[in-house]
Amino acid sequence: MRVVIAGAGLAGLSCGKYLVDKGHIPIILEARDVLGGKVAAWKDEDGDWYETGLHIFFGAYPNMLQLFKELDIEDRLQWKSHSMIFNQPSEPGTYSRFDFPDIPAPVNGVSAILSNNDMLSWNEKILFGLGLVPAMLRGQKYLDKCDRKSWTDWLREHNIPERVNDEVFIAMSKALNFIGPDEISSTVLLTALNRFLQEKNGSKMAFLDGAPPERLCQPMVDYITARGGEVHMNSPLRQINLNEDSTVKSFTIASLNENEKKELTADAYVSAMPVDLLKLMIPNQWKGIDAFSKLEGLNGVPVINIHLWFDKKLTDIDHLLFSRSPLLSVYADMSITCKEYEDPDRSMLELVFAPAKDWINRSDQDIVDATMEELKKLFPTHFMGDDKTKLRKYKVVKTPRSVYKAVPGCQEFRPSQKSPIKNFFLAGDYTMQKYLASMEGAVLSGKLCAESINKEFSKTPQNVS
Ligand SMILES: Cc1cc2nc3c(=O)[nH]c(=O)nc-3n(C[C@H](O)[C@H](O)[C@H](O)COP(=O)(O)OP(=O)(O)OC[C@H]3O[C@@H](n4cnc5c(N)ncnc54)[C@H](O)[C@@H]3O)c2cc1C
Repeated sequence: MRVVIAGAGLAGLSCGKYLVDKGHIPIILEARDVLGGKVAAWKDEDGDWYETGLHIFFGAYPNMLQLFKELDIEDRLQWKSHSMIFNQPSEPGTYSRFDFPDIPAPVNGVSAILSNNDMLSWNEKILFGLGLVPAMLRGQKYLDKCDRKSWTDWLREHNIPERVNDEVFIAMSKALNFIGPDEISSTVLLTALNRFLQEKNGSKMAFLDGAPPERLCQPMVDYITARGGEVHMNSPLRQINLNEDSTVKSFTIASLNENEKKELTADAYVSAMPVDLLKLMIPNQWKGIDAFSKLEGLNGVPVINIHLWFDKKLTDIDHLLFSRSPLLSVYADMSITCKEYEDPDRSMLELVFAPAKDWINRSDQDIVDATMEELKKLFPTHFMGDDKTKLRKYKVVKTPRSVYKAVPGCQEFRPSQKSPIKNFFLAGDYTMQKYLASMEGAVLSGKLCAESINKEFSKTPQNVS
């Protein structure tokens, strides 16, 4: 069966990969000249990589880890020590750690929390631990129910002091969805905490050993094309054309290079585009259908990814760091954490700037200046005196609409991979799967989409085109 997929992010590529595994022929069309969507990366004039986002892989990503195994590229994940490391704003230049010992879950997580005495008091730890019991015992149903309230409301409901937010959850909430705890749905944090506490290696983190388009997306493309599928770059979907019964007749594709349009027909059609772009392309005949009108409730959140190349080393920490800065979210010294970006003498910090709504329209220079002011607090000794660390160059990548903003109530807007239209399917991190907006969510959505297509079409006799 021939399946046309619009979008070569992780969801579209995963859908293609699992379709070829089932013997189908995916034709993947990517609008841009780079693979990966939100994991896309480019080389600058010196040959240094810069990325759409600083990306962390977690032990609690079963579908992503399985994919690495199936592509035979598991050695490309660089696993770090099982810890979470936070900057200490009250003592600039110092860190507070949650270290997870090598013992079964949830004891390792409980031990990591109990043995950290910098950030939470005993009273806060006990109240917080009690608050988490329903999530651990009642699972997904409880998590879904919590989507009605923000994380801050959830804390209040459980009589947990809001100071806990300042210490830990502003940082975690910004890391998970680029917004603060007053805005984020409590489902997001509870889902992450649940995985981290219930799975021994759930919160263990890995960096990819190089740029995602080459080190992760290209092996997926090679896998797909070696088995008869196709991947075409610079081929944006422009229009979804319908039959009289509202099923899809064809996709109109533009070629960016040749300025020409062509129509592609297939047995099934998939949108693996971001939700904001899909919304613009929904045909009028579908607009009254509940699953499509609900998409209006999902909106991408702005975020900025910054790369700063310095003339010296700023740190020797081989890990992700939670900055706890009002402007910044997580960051890492990629010259240490990532093999391909390695530099023994000079740091390259990659930092996520969030929340970014007030900054997304500001100039790159303004954003870098503000970031440098924050870095002076994080590295107080490096930017003073005669031997100051100097910024050699920078790159700023803005994503005005990134992953869907996970505000309270938006779980119900997330569509299934199987749409109400018989030959039209959805893949993407925003579609319903339990890993929310993440690389794992994108890969799982692609896999579920391929399964839906296979199931739907194995029910009815098909004309193989
Ligand atoms: C700054 C940042 C940091 C992040 N950090 C993490 C992290 O640490 N861990 C984690 O798990 N996740 C992280 N994420 C989230 C993760 O990147 C996404 O959840 C995931 O990559 C989304 O994949 P997707 O395939 O659903 O969508 P996308 O990656 O958006 O892919 C959609 C694709 O569709 C293409 N497209 C658009 N329009 C058309 C068209 N008309 N025709 C054809 N193609 C089209 C796009 O070009 C794109 O390639 C981060 C994201 C950002 C932005």
